Amino acid sequence: MTLLRSNLNIKEIIIDSPIYTKWDYNIDNGQNIIPRMSSLTSIIEEFKDRVELYCVKCNERRIFAPDEGVYKDTATVKNIHFKNIPIIGNKECLYKTYMCSFSEDHKYIFGFYVDDEKVIKIAEYPSKYDSIKENFNLYNKIIGDEKVSELAKASQLESFGYAIASFLYYRRIFEYLVILKFKEYKCENKIDEDKYSHLKMKDKIDYIKEDLPEYFTNTSNIYSTLSNGIHNLNETECKKDLSVIRLIIIEILDELLEIKNRVIRKENLKNELNTINSKK
Ligand SMILES: [Zn+2]
Repeated sequence: MTLLRSNLNIKEIIIDSPIYTKWDYNIDNGQNIIPRMSSLTSIIEEFKDRVELYCVKCNERRIFAPDEGVYKDTATVKNIHFKNIPIIGNKECLYKTYMCSFSEDHKYIFGFYVDDEKVIKIAEYPSKYDSIKENFNLYNKIIGDEKVSELAKASQLESFGYAIASFLYYRRIFEYLVILKFKEYKCENKIDEDKYSHLKMKDKIDYIKEDLPEYFTNTSNIYSTLSNGIHNLNETECKKDLSVIRLIIIEILDELLEIKNRVIRKENLKNELNTINSKK
């Protein structure tokens, strides 16, 4: 079945879609008034909309504008010996490139290949992982760089449709947070970490309950949902629950971050006050 042009979301095809997604090459553009616009590659070429993306070089969200035309090789190469070659006519393989509004050297590149009446997305740079990871860097203060990477991977796997694998990363992050809170927890006759790590999750949570933020405790049954997903649910079932799981994990992290920032703010104010008093 040929896709109707009106049903296509070109931005989603070029930018948001995971690598190796396939679409029909031939597009029914209604009355076929403009024959050259009846292929998906021409539509990708003609797509002129600017898009907002995370620029990994600016470390900020920027507006990106598409370069004119599409190319046989990767980005628009600024070198007289290796000029980029625009493609005219049939395109078996093409690259659509975008330029950051801050600098023309900051690029996004998306590659497509035509095979058996299908257009396949074959390349993307920077990767979704690179741009996603930056979004989670603010949690570095709480969970460190390694776990920030895992958070980004969970999100990337979700965008690839690998819901079970994504569940696994979220569960690891949850487990890590519980151990982290246990390490910070102060009480008399505290059990050692090895003994604690062998407790059931419910008992672990109970043990440090009074030190956990309210939201964390209220949603701690997320762990059984995650475990159930990993062991008993299929990809489609996990996919259904995934956005809620992600939002809960982010909410827990936001709450912990706010607490941490409050402690830092109070500490700074105390130090400033001490400085003022010492001058008297
Ligand atoms: Zn930039």
